[in-house]
Amino acid sequence: MNIDQRRLNFEVYLNQVGQQIVSNNKFPWGHSRRFNSYSEYIKELFGGRVQKVAVDAGFTCPNRDGSVGTGGCTYCDNEAFNPSYCNPNESITEQIKKGIEFHAKRYRRAKEFLVYFQPFSNTYAPLPVLKEKYQEALSFPGVVGLVIGTRPDCVDDAILDWLAGLAKNHYIQIEYGIESVNEDTLKRIIRGHTFELSKQIIEKTHAMGIRTGAHFILGLPGETPEMMMGMAEIISQLPIDTVKFHQLQIIKGTQLEKEYIANPSSFHLFGLEEYIDFIIAFTERLRPSLVIERFTGEVPPRFLDQYHWGLLRNDEILRMIDARLEERDSWQGKYLAIC
Ligand code: SF4
Repeated sequence: MNIDQRRLNFEVYLNQVGQQIVSNNKFPWGHSRRFNSYSEYIKELFGGRVQKVAVDAGFTCPNRDGSVGTGGCTYCDNEAFNPSYCNPNESITEQIKKGIEFHAKRYRRAKEFLVYFQPFSNTYAPLPVLKEKYQEALSFPGVVGLVIGTRPDCVDDAILDWLAGLAKNHYIQIEYGIESVNEDTLKRIIRGHTFELSKQIIEKTHAMGIRTGAHFILGLPGETPEMMMGMAEIISQLPIDTVKFHQLQIIKGTQLEKEYIANPSSFHLFGLEEYIDFIIAFTERLRPSLVIERFTGEVPPRFLDQYHWGLLRNDEILRMIDARLEERDSWQGKYLAIC
């Protein structure tokens, strides 16, 4: 069975079961995790573990090079998110090799890989340049697909058309940084695009048959917990396949750090326990067919200001969320009226 048949079967299954009654620890997504987990989704799709390997293809971003802005989003420091093995001065092939070695030392060896074009805006280049980089990644042995992080204002019809063609034979996922559904917040963090544009691009990408992911930050300035909770319903209505959430982390030296120091009362920075409660209530309001890749973000402590949760890794927090969902007999979509 090829990847597309497997994906189709799985997605048809998810749609069919929709909001079926949860019983005997079987949830609508077909496994016993209490949320529709990305790692399980990928295992189901490929029949085993697939390792994501990040690369830095050397792109920039329109919010930095002057076409939209020069200072970037107020919270941004790409260095803080870029794995140590990524180096834009090395070829994509070299970076994939190093990424595979890096992960093999820490985790079980995987045989198949998704190449994650991660820092900056990875569709922000002429199409021939993009084709060359993506094809180099896809030709590496064991690479079964691409995950491409970008901004909604950095794709056009030609790029989407070409990726849609590629998606017929490979796992192709575009991961859009959306960050918030509130237009005022997007202005305040100097994002340089609107949520309205994000919605249009998400709809177009999905309609063209490309897997569509979205990234959101919880805790952006000016947003109250109630406003953030309201995002769950809006996100559930977007035609996205996968989603990542990060708690806001204040990175040293950013514009956001200055803003926080000047006016801390306009931020709602979650404490760890409070965030776990919040994200569980949030997940209870998300549609079951939405695959969740992350609940939290992790930045090396040297980049962080004093406002953080200590040295806890994402995996540890995930275990806490799993345990809390179990304890409360709760699950993704428990309080969502429609699927
Ligand atoms: S769009 Fe991304 S890379 Fe560009 S400034 Fe914002 S967060 Fe940074």
